[in-house]
Formats: sequence, structure tokens, C-alpha cells
Amino acid sequence: MKGVMNLATIVQKYGGTSVGTIDKIKAVAKKVIERKKEGNDIVVVVSAMGKTTDKLIDMAKQISDNPNKREMDMLISTGEQVTIALLSMVFQESGYDSVSLTGFQAGIKTGGVHTKNRIFDIEIQNVENHLKDGKIVVVAGFQGMNENGDITTLGRGGSDTTAVALAAKLNCTCEIYTDVDGIYGVDPRVWPNAKKLDYISYEEMMEMASLGAGVMETRAVEIGCKYKIPIYVASTHGNTKRNLYKGV
Ligand code: ADP
Ligand code: ASP
Ligand code: MG
Repeated sequence: MKGVMNLATIVQKYGGTSVGTIDKIKAVAKKVIERKKEGNDIVVVVSAMGKTTDKLIDMAKQISDNPNKREMDMLISTGEQVTIALLSMVFQESGYDSVSLTGFQAGIKTGGVHTKNRIFDIEIQNVENHLKDGKIVVVAGFQGMNENGDITTLGRGGSDTTAVALAAKLNCTCEIYTDVDGIYGVDPRVWPNAKKLDYISYEEMMEMASLGAGVMETRAVEIGCKYKIPIYVASTHGNTKRNLYKGV
């Protein structure tokens, strides 16, 4: 999946809580613009606002106990599309050129069963062309398109996978911004005395993720490991970027 090395390219991902309101989206935009001003090319991957995905699933459950999975993907992929448009508008309003792209427009090709698709390739040209034009590229996390041209989703928490896969294709680092300030030995919300880790190997993180540490989606860590993509996890609202785990 590796593309041409470009040290100045960064993929940043902001999760649902971080983009839960318009004010929070504006705060995210400010953070991205700081890095853009430093001269970086930036791809921003975002999740649906707050609990949007849960709400969409709940609506479907009011219709059927077992809703059609293609239609589920059509439904739950909409959340991310709202966020990309709003964030891109904020960039434009702040005087920065920006474009929002759905998974399909970002070239994300997937396969497998609906609601649990896997990315098998990314046709990166469209993203690269927009970066070359100086735009901040905002990509919808969690979604892609299959060989039938249908919208697919990557499983819950799948925006992490979108971000790391894009970073793998662009051969750059991936920064995951979330509602905790890093990776802890155990979930810090459940165990308040948990210790923050300065560094964790891909293998240890994969194990933690597969045991349910939702802070990083398992598949995202697998892709990071395969392509040796440095991944940083930090708080959206902090101003320090901590190197929390990285390939060996
Ligand atoms: P986002 O919406 O940004 O993707 P998630 O809710 O998916 O955020 O992941 C962040 C959450 O992961 C934190 O709020 C935390 O409760 C949980 N979490 C579980 N295990 C860990 C861990 N070992 N270290 C840090 N956070 C963890
Ligand atoms: N919005 C999706 C979910 O809630 C994807 C993500 O947040 O990563 O699972
Ligand atoms: Mg998540």
C-alpha cells in the first residue's frame, strides 16, 4: 500500500466526541490549521458527530430486528458525511482551501460482508491531487465502496482504520486525537489509577485492542504494524503530541 514518501504529509483523525458539536468542530479546525501553517499537507479523517452512529442504528432497530446489511451501511455511513462537510466549511470560512471526500471519493476500495468490510486498496490519486493544490483534505472515516459500487462500512470504530490505511498509502505518520490523552495500561475511565504508557508496540496494542480496548480499532493497529506507520495517540484538547506507540 506504500506510496511516495512525503515527510510533510500528516494524517490526523478526530473521533466522535471530538467533533460532537459545531463548537468542537471549530476547535478541531483550529488545531488542524496550526499544523497547516507549519507547512504540512494535511488529511483529516473524522467520525460521525457524538453518538450519531448509535442513534442511526437505533432507528433501524425500530424497524427490524435484523435490518438488511446493505441498507445498514447506507444508513450508518451518513454520519461521517455530515462531519466532513461541516469541517470543510469551517476551513473555508477561516480562509483555508479545503475539500471533503466520502470514502469512495477518497478511493477507498473495500470487500467482505456489509457492516464489516475491509479495505483492500486505496486509489490515492484524488487525495494527492487535492493536497498538491494546497487543500486540507477531509475524509469520511469508517466507509468505502465495494466492487458493486455499494457504500460499505468497516465495523464500529472503523475511522481509525481509514486513518491508518490512508497514512500507509501516503507513507506518513498518523495522529489519532480522541477523548483520552493517550494509551493506558487499562481503560482509564474504568480504572482511574491506570498508568499512561509512553510507548507501546504494535503487538501489545493489537492484543489490547482485540481484548476490547476501544481506544484503537484492532484492524487499524494491524495495518500500522504491516506498513510500519508511526501512530500517535493524544487528546484532542491537549496541546502536546505524545509518541504513544510506534513500530520497532
Ligand atoms: P473516539 O470516538 O475518539 O474514536 P473511542 O471512544 O473509540 O474514541 O476511544 C476512546 C476511549 O477508549 C476512551 O474514552 C477510553 O475510555 C477507552 N479506552 C479503553 N481502553 C483504553 C486504554 N487502554 N487506554 C486509553 N483509553 C482506553
Ligand atoms: N462512527 C463510527 C462508529 O461510531 C466509526 C468511528 O467512530 O470510528 O463506530
Ligand atoms: Mg474509536
